Amino acid sequence: MNGVDFHDMKVRAPDLDRTREEYAEIGAAIQGADDAAACIEAVRRWNECRNAVDTWGALVGLHFNQDTRNPDAKRALEERDEMSPKILELDLELMRKLNASPHRTAVESEIGKHAFDLWEALITTYDPAIESEKIQESRLESEYTELIASGRVDYNGETLTLVELGRYNEDPKRDVRHDVSLLRWGWFQDNAKALDRIFGELVALRTSMARKLGFDDFVELAYRRLQRTDYDRTDVERFRAEVREQVVPLATELRRRQAERIGVDRLMSWDEALRDPQGNPKPQGDHDWMVERAREMFDQMGGGLGEFFRLMVDRNLMDLKSRKNKGGGGFCTSFPDYGVPFIFANFNGTKGDVEVFTHEMGHAFQCYCSRDRFPIDYLWPTAEACEIHSMGLEFLTWPHMGKFFGEDDADRFRGIHLEESLLFLPYGVAIDHFQHLVYENPDATPAERNAFWQEMERTYLPWRDYGDLERPAAGGFWQCQLHVYRYPFYYIDYTLAQTCALQFWKRSEADFAEAMEAYVALCRRGGEAPFQELVRGADLTSPFQSGCLADVVDHARAILGV
Ligand code: ZN
Repeated sequence: MNGVDFHDMKVRAPDLDRTREEYAEIGAAIQGADDAAACIEAVRRWNECRNAVDTWGALVGLHFNQDTRNPDAKRALEERDEMSPKILELDLELMRKLNASPHRTAVESEIGKHAFDLWEALITTYDPAIESEKIQESRLESEYTELIASGRVDYNGETLTLVELGRYNEDPKRDVRHDVSLLRWGWFQDNAKALDRIFGELVALRTSMARKLGFDDFVELAYRRLQRTDYDRTDVERFRAEVREQVVPLATELRRRQAERIGVDRLMSWDEALRDPQGNPKPQGDHDWMVERAREMFDQMGGGLGEFFRLMVDRNLMDLKSRKNKGGGGFCTSFPDYGVPFIFANFNGTKGDVEVFTHEMGHAFQCYCSRDRFPIDYLWPTAEACEIHSMGLEFLTWPHMGKFFGEDDADRFRGIHLEESLLFLPYGVAIDHFQHLVYENPDATPAERNAFWQEMERTYLPWRDYGDLERPAAGGFWQCQLHVYRYPFYYIDYTLAQTCALQFWKRSEADFAEAMEAYVALCRRGGEAPFQELVRGADLTSPFQSGCLADVVDHARAILGV
């Protein structure tokens, strides 16, 4: 099914009874296989089913995001969410059978051991004994999202959601920034009880599930859920120490310079989002103009990016314009049956448009390069590796930013992008370290958890000053970070990937062609290997190796003149 236009793609919902029969046959074929070849044949049949299910799931998810008020799209999404866990159970059953197969070693040598490791990780996170807790967990996660979404504050005669209030964070007037911070954190103060209760219940539930599955604590279960097969919490701990030693001093200096630049003698928390008194650079044209500039950019970059981008345009595989009833944010999804990815975004005329676009194009390009990987587990790598493709492309497109912003503003854009990338690292590891403390001490009280977070701020964000903002000054800042509630332990992935992307940045400044070649080769490998193996294969220093950030920090200091 190659060459199909997005609008001609068919949504085929699986028939659950038929799927069950098919899986039963595949399971019997695996168990009855006389040799590895017969086993692999069964894996191919299973792979066809998974391609179809993933294509359906992705199309349904995308259609809903394209029009969240469409009742048919919503119904299809509900149907998918109800059916997916049932199909996952069928998948897990086949994974168990394959892992127990007498031909396992021979199959591994054909399709790679990594797939088996990924399956093993998933298998150990499921058990009928935790089913009701899993349902409660997702209910609490939704409760958090709904509570935050229900947040309203009155400002300037308008009633605003917390997201809408965010547009004042970068207001050039300091008292505006301070006022909206007071309102925002006033809301968190008023809802502190509920936020503490939801989180306390989540920690208890997750800890209980981990223990039922035979783990010491939830940290171990969370790492397995994320299919981390080649590193553990001690590696992550070493990486955090690296950030503390290398990046925190630089970040502190960058914050001091920021205070100078925006003309305040002490940078308060409500000043942090204002990077530049001139305001952020903006793209100089509309959506169609940007697509044209992107075409020029990707043609000049080589490595197959130009051809790939044409394909995305010609087959309508992008939906970038913001419109009413469209879901928020940006993401990349893919349709394995058709061998192509899709990019979704909400352009709003800010520099973020260019960032989201180059970021999601990185994901899409990798996915397209890996479209023929077998089995489907190799279509994408694990999340920390995925974000190298996206964050890496954000840096590799640097030389072309003049096309979007004009040459003068392109320099400002690059400076801000680099500073934000560096400043993100201490915050990212603080969120990660905090979660380790929480789940390693599951009986801590809400006040003790806030004290954990304050310790994180002293360690990683020593410049932070909340002044008269009561709630964050008492340690409650972490409650605004969605991932802490909804995606436990995921946050470190962004910082691991950023550490690798920054290396691509430095290499591309020294030899663009070399960096580009290594980047494309990394994309082509898809998810055939675990994180560190992919990283080393691309000649990058693993974030778990000591000194991993020294080079890029030195280079950044030189470029930024710090
Ligand atoms: Zn991403």
